[in-house]
Amino acid sequence: MEIHKARTQGFCFGVELTYRKALAETAERSDVHTMGNIVHNPIIVQELEQRGLHNVESLDEVSSGTLFVRAHGLPPQTIQAAEAKGLRVVDATCPMVTRTQRLAKKLHEEGRTVVILGDPNHPEVKGIAGYAPGCIILNEWPADETEIRRARRIAIVAQSTLNGDTFRDLVGRIAAINYEVRVYNTICSDTQGRQKSARELAEEVDTMIVIGGSKSANTRHLAEIAQSRGVTAHLIENAGDLRREWFRGDERVGIATGASTPGFLADDVIDKLLEWFPDAQAVGV
Ligand code: SF4
Repeated sequence: MEIHKARTQGFCFGVELTYRKALAETAERSDVHTMGNIVHNPIIVQELEQRGLHNVESLDEVSSGTLFVRAHGLPPQTIQAAEAKGLRVVDATCPMVTRTQRLAKKLHEEGRTVVILGDPNHPEVKGIAGYAPGCIILNEWPADETEIRRARRIAIVAQSTLNGDTFRDLVGRIAAINYEVRVYNTICSDTQGRQKSARELAEEVDTMIVIGGSKSANTRHLAEIAQSRGVTAHLIENAGDLRREWFRGDERVGIATGASTPGFLADDVIDKLLEWFPDAQAVGV
């Protein structure tokens, strides 16, 4: 068996930045709060909780201290409410997400109908939507075609981790039924690179192991990409989730990781496979 790693591994730069800021904040203060998980990886969330980063569901739970804005960002209304309460706000939103938030705000102010392609329940999408009141959020087709048909001066942006195939598909469908459509591909460069390397790896392997948080959209999309290329993909959070029977008869196994997956988790998976299959070889690792 050969074990291959996708070219792009480890934290993306946005998660790295947020993680480092969180380490610095928790080293200096004990009353630091974040609304929702700081990133979609349970290992990182747990580590930062142990360092004193308190996860809250609502601002009502925070009466003083710091609101630490996570990588996916928050709606501006939440940040304003925190400031109005006298909380210190530390913005650790990934710069790529901030760029999309600003773009959505500008497009909204120009009088355009902002269409966000992404998961309406994802915190990043909720945050962006806060900058463009009245926007349309679209995850799949069929959508409410009447709403799209009637919308004036559509401007499309996307969740940073959207699957590129989904983006192209939805843009095409919207453009087919509305006269004026402006498109901004705001899928971040790290996501595009990660998807590309997962796609290339899927062409070469029999089974793909995708490592990341079960709630991580970008991790899920990597598994979807591999599956769409006819490869069996297993999504796991760590080496403990591996099943030996997944690999019977496999000649080549690929390993891809999500944007908030620390690099050592891929090494743990390789170690486990080498333990189970002593003749296996980690190629180019
Ligand atoms: S995946 Fe992209 S947008 Fe999301 S945190 Fe990483 S760099 Fe930022």
